[in-house]
Amino acid sequence: MEKWVYTFGDGRAEGESRLRDLLGGKGANLAEMARLGLPVPPGFTITTEVCAYFYENEKQFPPELDAQVDAALVFLGALTGKSFGDENKPLLVSVRSGARASMPGMMDTVLNLGLNDVTVEALARHADPRFAYDSYRRFIQMYSSVVLHIEHRHFEEIIEDYKEANALTFDTELSAEDWKKLIGDFKAKVEEEFGAPFPQAPREQLWGAIAAVFGSWMTPRAITYRLLHDIPTSWGTAVNIQAMVFGNMGETSATGVAFTRNPATGAKELYGEFLLNAQGEDVVAGIRTPQNITEAARKAAGSDKPSLETALPRVFGEFLKTTSLLEKHYRDMQDVEFTVEDGKLWMLQTRDGKRTSKAALRIAVDMTHEGLISKEEAIARVDPASLEQLLHPTIDPKAERRVIAVGLPASPGAASGEIVFDADEAEKLKNAGRKVVLVRTETSPEDIHGMHAAEAIVTARGGMTSHAAVVARGMGKPCVSGAGAIRIDVEKGVMTAAGRTFAKGDILTVDGSSGEVMQGEVPMIQAELSGEFATLMEWADGVRRMGVRANAETPKDAKVARRFGAEGIGLCRTEHMFFDSGRILAVREMILADDENGRRSALAKLLPMQRADFVELFEIMAGLPVTIRLLDPPLHEFLPQRESEIRAVSDALGVPVEKLQRRLAALREVNPMLGFRGCRLAIAFPEIAEMQARAIFEAAAAVKKKTGDAVRLEIMAPLIIAKAELDLIQASVSSVATAVAKETGEIIPYSIGAMIETPRACLLAGEIAATAEFYSFGTNDLTQTCMALSRDDAGSFLGRYVAKGVFAADPFATLDQSGVGELIAIAASRARDARPGVKLGICGEHGGDPVSIAFCEAQGLDYVSCSPFRVPIARLAAAQAALGKKPSTQA
Ligand code: ADP
Ligand code: MG
Ligand code: MG
Repeated sequence: MEKWVYTFGDGRAEGESRLRDLLGGKGANLAEMARLGLPVPPGFTITTEVCAYFYENEKQFPPELDAQVDAALVFLGALTGKSFGDENKPLLVSVRSGARASMPGMMDTVLNLGLNDVTVEALARHADPRFAYDSYRRFIQMYSSVVLHIEHRHFEEIIEDYKEANALTFDTELSAEDWKKLIGDFKAKVEEEFGAPFPQAPREQLWGAIAAVFGSWMTPRAITYRLLHDIPTSWGTAVNIQAMVFGNMGETSATGVAFTRNPATGAKELYGEFLLNAQGEDVVAGIRTPQNITEAARKAAGSDKPSLETALPRVFGEFLKTTSLLEKHYRDMQDVEFTVEDGKLWMLQTRDGKRTSKAALRIAVDMTHEGLISKEEAIARVDPASLEQLLHPTIDPKAERRVIAVGLPASPGAASGEIVFDADEAEKLKNAGRKVVLVRTETSPEDIHGMHAAEAIVTARGGMTSHAAVVARGMGKPCVSGAGAIRIDVEKGVMTAAGRTFAKGDILTVDGSSGEVMQGEVPMIQAELSGEFATLMEWADGVRRMGVRANAETPKDAKVARRFGAEGIGLCRTEHMFFDSGRILAVREMILADDENGRRSALAKLLPMQRADFVELFEIMAGLPVTIRLLDPPLHEFLPQRESEIRAVSDALGVPVEKLQRRLAALREVNPMLGFRGCRLAIAFPEIAEMQARAIFEAAAAVKKKTGDAVRLEIMAPLIIAKAELDLIQASVSSVATAVAKETGEIIPYSIGAMIETPRACLLAGEIAATAEFYSFGTNDLTQTCMALSRDDAGSFLGRYVAKGVFAADPFATLDQSGVGELIAIAASRARDARPGVKLGICGEHGGDPVSIAFCEAQGLDYVSCSPFRVPIARLAAAQAALGKKPSTQA
């Protein structure tokens, strides 16, 4: 015979915590607590398999269930000395739902089930009548609301009217007689709303509640929650039926909730609240102000209400022992629910407590030091993605926020600065030492220098994958995108939001973690990698196999990267150095030159600037590997777009406006992503690559002379699709290397490699490896070219594709494993066959995504490279991947 029911109580249990799938989280832990000999009111769990049966059989229960429930009720009766439905010694129970994963949207708990007009009198005879009628009215309210679906407010209105008519303020002032009268009114209301009397038969009540729990598995709320959290419908919920204990029996009774450590800070201190003479969720319902559990917390809160420690000292002592035992047993911070009935402690629930990322770090490290868990477990317990909150400056939680618009939390962190509407102006002000927030309707590649200069970016339009959002995340800058309430008038230099007008120069604060845009400067807290955070990182470094590098080109980013533990630069984008306002003119001169000589003379102006950049960068990266990507973007991105700008450039370079416009038209591309860019530029204009190579080698030689430490140079050609391309580039790089070695007397070792960004390159990876000494997978473009999906244009439908399940996740955030991932796997294996030991890395946004990092580990890549602010995330994720932990897809 199939077993559908598992009992627990009196130091024994048929279930245990390992049977979570079958008994749900609540049921499994109640069984476990009973086995531990803790004071748990006896009860039984109807398994999740009954839920599955229920939905497979037109909402019928298995035929054996009835008898098994009866037997379990007899078991409860034997332990409590009461009997379900008995007119003298009635057993009362609670009916509680409990799925495998804790899940809002499920039926609320029904307490005091088994009470009716007869049993309530027995309760009144044996205990205090007020308590009896209070319990009965609570039962009618709960049962009517969660099983009969009569709105709560009906009962609340009846109580309020009664209190008003009788000049009463608090529920506690109502006497037995008052509640007795109200029970009559409640029952009349039920009959009116439900069309039938309130069910009096305890067994009818019980089966009604059981069916309601199973029924709640399929409510729209529960279905939506499961969809959002990847919980399969097939899991089902369990039902727990448990003998009641009463926290509402007077001043020696109480109910409460507690965490074994502080869930906000992780501090090792019991943290919780309780109420005397109360039942169930009164504590969280907010009707009365709860009391602190410990004296220390009471003092800290400045509360004048006694703590549990002083109100019920003996109970408090036992509670302390119990919670510390639970923590040791589960080896994790616990979130417990308890009730005290007339001076006796009862445990009603325990589970691993939810915590902030700060608390998660501290608890993991503390528990390792306490010997409760191993370092590996500590590493596995912290969600890498959650660290992001800790790495950016954050708004002081105590600060006042005057929110003027809310958009998407596109890139986390917070910053304040003066409003600017224009990228050039952002840069100008930044160079003058001011802090600015760039506010635009949307951004384009032309704004990159302004985004770099800004402390934060706000756009009125665009989604989580808009240009602004993606670039800001890469830069580790706070960004709010799609703040639709903001209207910008660039000509007038003003914006409006929240019915107010803000001018250029007014101060805004942007919270990219919440999506809020605030007026004025709001105080911040700076991020630091110290204390438990630093300790956990050290442990992670001890187990991780893959290297972690950063994508960085500015000295500032390189410093952040090193501070966060990057072991090199995996992608240094040289074009970012060209967008600088002091250089863009020379770049434009080079692009507009009529012949090679003209280009060479413009490039000669750029050489010292580029060399100076590299010197600074190489000094910071002292001896670490640095992958430098040769010029990549299509040239038109460097040219002016607006009429006024075109005229200014024409004046500055002495080039006629018509010529400039002709050149612009010639360079304009229908699909720039697929056009004249990447290494194609170096093939068409070898002098550009030569200048860059010269800047690189001269800088390395200078740094080596100065510090004795050159970086490990890796020169990378972007968008390679053929071995011949890399051969041509290699030839010119190597001749520059030889020339510079002769001139400087320093031989700088380097390797040459390819950025793999197209399916063709993946398939030809074996052949190209004859020349390439390393590969870096540029997974942003590889995703675009593999899926015919433009990152900038995908925003409008990407969300829908994810919602409808076409994509499991945003492929620009998490590597698409069945397409892009497969190409990487093919490329990696062909490259290794052709050149054993070839160095393989990844440098797309995916390099900072834990799920993608786990994929890279599985492929045996040598390193991941990500934005500086994600370096600690990548270090932890790489460690978890090395330990074989499956990363969770939900934050
Ligand atoms: P939730 O999953 O929403 O926390 P629970 O099933 O844990 O719901 O029930 C909520 C509260 O009801 C518990 O914290 C406890 O205070 C009270 N409760 C549940 N069962 C009993 C019981 N058998 N005796 C006394 N109180 C109970
Ligand atoms: Mg609840
Ligand atoms: Mg609970």
